[in-house]
Amino acid sequence: MEGALTARDRVGIQDFVLLDETTETAFLSNLNKRFSKDLIYTYIGTLLVSVNPYKELDIYNRKQMDIYMGVNFFELPPHIYALADNAYHTMLTEFNNHFILISGESGAGKTEASKKILQYYAISCPSTTLLNTVRDKMLKSNPVLEAFGNAKTLKNDNSSRFGKYMDIQFDSQGDAVGGHILNYLLEKSRVVHQNHGERNFHIFYQLVEGGEDDLLHQLGLERDSLHYNYLTQGECAIVFSINDKNDWKTVKNALQVIDHLFGIVASVLHLGNVQFDSDSKGQALLNNNAETKYLNPTKIRCKRVKIPFTIDHAIYARDALAKAIYGLTFTWLVNRINGSMENKDSSRKTVIGLLDIYGFEVFYVNSFEQFCINYCNEKLQQLFIQLTLKAEQEEYEAENIEWEPVQFFNNKIICDLVEEKHRGIISILDEECLRPGDATDLTFLERLEEKMGNHPHFVTHKLADKMTRKTLERGDFRLLHYAGEVTYCVVGFLDKNNDLLYRNIKDVINSSLTVSSLSHMDLTDELLGIMTLMLCPCFGNMMESFEFHPFLGHIITGQFDEALIRHQVKYLGLMEHLRVRRAGFAYRRKYEVFLKRYKPLCPATWPHWRGMPADGVEELVQHLGYLPNEYKMGRTKIFIRHPRTLYATEDAYEK
Ligand code: ATP
Ligand code: MG
Repeated sequence: MEGALTARDRVGIQDFVLLDETTETAFLSNLNKRFSKDLIYTYIGTLLVSVNPYKELDIYNRKQMDIYMGVNFFELPPHIYALADNAYHTMLTEFNNHFILISGESGAGKTEASKKILQYYAISCPSTTLLNTVRDKMLKSNPVLEAFGNAKTLKNDNSSRFGKYMDIQFDSQGDAVGGHILNYLLEKSRVVHQNHGERNFHIFYQLVEGGEDDLLHQLGLERDSLHYNYLTQGECAIVFSINDKNDWKTVKNALQVIDHLFGIVASVLHLGNVQFDSDSKGQALLNNNAETKYLNPTKIRCKRVKIPFTIDHAIYARDALAKAIYGLTFTWLVNRINGSMENKDSSRKTVIGLLDIYGFEVFYVNSFEQFCINYCNEKLQQLFIQLTLKAEQEEYEAENIEWEPVQFFNNKIICDLVEEKHRGIISILDEECLRPGDATDLTFLERLEEKMGNHPHFVTHKLADKMTRKTLERGDFRLLHYAGEVTYCVVGFLDKNNDLLYRNIKDVINSSLTVSSLSHMDLTDELLGIMTLMLCPCFGNMMESFEFHPFLGHIITGQFDEALIRHQVKYLGLMEHLRVRRAGFAYRRKYEVFLKRYKPLCPATWPHWRGMPADGVEELVQHLGYLPNEYKMGRTKIFIRHPRTLYATEDAYEK
């Protein structure tokens, strides 16, 4: 009987904290119920959970933005705009910095979420013509960064292959007045190698497929992705879901023609087609192909250097050069974007920080790249644990409420395993890379085995018991991440960590770059940037943001595949988070907000309460029959222990 169905039955509950049970089954069933009605967002208190719909929903537009602008977080259905708006308004009223942490596995929708947040600020915050240019640049920077930093992977056709931390700066009026992007750990190996079913960075295909005839002619490029070795290894240069021609127009428009930049992109493609023959002594000779004449797009003065290489070494050096050029170009681009969004006015600003990194990845074969990406995610989870626990405890303390902490699985043990000084995997890898002599990927593995011994989160073929040994190859090590087991193949770890150019080649490009547009960048840093160095800026920055107020978005990938989603609910720690929320007080609301919403339920508070809001709330809950152990009065908020209590109140309100 339709009439008897409550909203709760029809569309599920919009905040998991209000569920009757905290079982995983109840959690999944609520998520599914909502997803089937295209309600992709659900709260766990102030945490937003979203399920990727993989289809356009009509919920991201100006009208929706207006609805959420300035409205209390819980007053409207959950939405990414509510999260954005809440951060914005708290920032304005409390004059502090906020930090939006978005996590989830590859393809979950993190980048889309961060773009929606950025759009919300750019479009709905107050504006002047002058500031519009800053906003315009913030919005336009996205397609450019995605062209250069995103690629098709097996998990996601537009997968971020770099980490991005963006600050949006606001003045005291709440105007967005500037922005800054910090990029880190671009997956440069993709420039020279792609796994089957994956592509190189989008920009290469956009240039080749969409570039104007004149431009291609000038750059010596064929209009055919299949012509380029660097574009064809994944055997999927052309993908139905990606429109490289159209994307080219957007990127070109946003970049306002930086032709020499495309010259550099083209030179990477030419470099990939450079082949070598072997002479009678086994040394590599440049194959007499035409590509080399395009390798100097900025027409700088060159000197020829002869270095005796075997073919393998020559190919290695060629690829290293291509990766370095691309890495530098990317950094240069980010610097330019930052320059254009910079706000030089020194008046006090507050910021909202947005972190969007590549999600946790597990492939059939996992290499150094997955190791770095998954380590980033491990750190993010650590940050999440610290922030939620810290925030919760501080809230109770500030409001003079007693509470018993709930136990979490703390993944610090895994972070330590990877990053601990002198003992962690990264340290051992760095030491092996710097050790003169015969260090190889396998000696690195042996060192790990010596040092890690019987660590509960680490195993190799040699260390494993009989059963596990069957699932491990000799060159593998397996980490038990917070999100599950991943087996890494050590082949290439040393090389990729080093990411060193052969010294002589490095000297050559160092000198030739002095007159090119990339000259102001520190090439040595870029080339020698071993993993520790690359990761630290990012996390250093995040740790500094600890006083930031956390607004968290956990995103789950779509097509309601129950097993897949159950796994993500588990590793994202959503049930634990829910339990923490409920073990203390499931709900807390400012007295004013609580009173405003529920005052019609009590004659003493309706239509107006003239005393202190806290007294009004006390009057109200007495009238509603709350028992003394069901709630606590804090300094500025009422804390309600069981969701049921609030749920009954909410039901009474709805009637
Ligand atoms: P990665 O870690 O690989 O970078 P990600 O979490 O950033 O993954 P996105 O690129 O944001 O994932 O999303 C993958 C795809 O999912 C998008 O290209 C888009 O097609 C779809 N998608 C994500 N969020 C939404 C949404 N809110 N509405 C509709 N489609 C979405
Ligand atoms: Mg992404």
